[in-house]
Amino acid sequence: MRLVILGGPGAGKGTQAARLCSLLNIPWISTGDMLRSAIAAQNPLGIQAQPYVEKGELVPDPTLIEFMRSRLDQPDASKGWLFDGYPRTAFQAEELDFLLDDLGQALDWAIYLDVPPTVMMSRILGRTGSDSDESCRLDDQPDIVERRIELFQERTIPILEYYEQRSRLLKVSGDQTPEQIQQEILQKLNQV
Ligand code: AMP
Repeated sequence: MRLVILGGPGAGKGTQAARLCSLLNIPWISTGDMLRSAIAAQNPLGIQAQPYVEKGELVPDPTLIEFMRSRLDQPDASKGWLFDGYPRTAFQAEELDFLLDDLGQALDWAIYLDVPPTVMMSRILGRTGSDSDESCRLDDQPDIVERRIELFQERTIPILEYYEQRSRLLKVSGDQTPEQIQQEILQKLNQV
């Protein structure tokens, strides 16, 4: 299974991605996590990405596209994958399709976790105050979260139409409990 999970900050992508990947036995490929590790390691990708990630801005498309190309070349990606945080722009979505064409692969579904922006904001501000694994993210400060939500709406929402036109979009309400969301995703994956 080759999946993409789409949703704004705090939409619950990470929670659903972890569950789906263990159920479907596919690798969870999170660009945000990979960029944060690269920044911690201060490797060339990290040094390049750091100023963007810290401000909640998008890392330039060519950097991400090149990075995903090499990630898909790794052996564990041959049996399927779930991308979390990629694509995030229409350009990345098109480039992903070109890349998959080159590899003789195709995306099965883009799962969209639909969550109102006010819920996104309160969830992220909630996780900053909790001891969840993600509570130490430096880009979870209110003004940066606002920018991340704004960019999600401007740059990522247009991708929904891209996948809808290709009949690849599965839309799920993200404003439910994690269990309910998971059930809805699994039902839709099996029904289609
Ligand atoms: P995330 O963990 O998915 O919220 O990503 C954290 C940050 O990493 C984002 O705010 C961006 O700065 C950067 N990032 C992650 N994925 C992408 C992407 N596909 N394109 C550009 N920037 C990205």
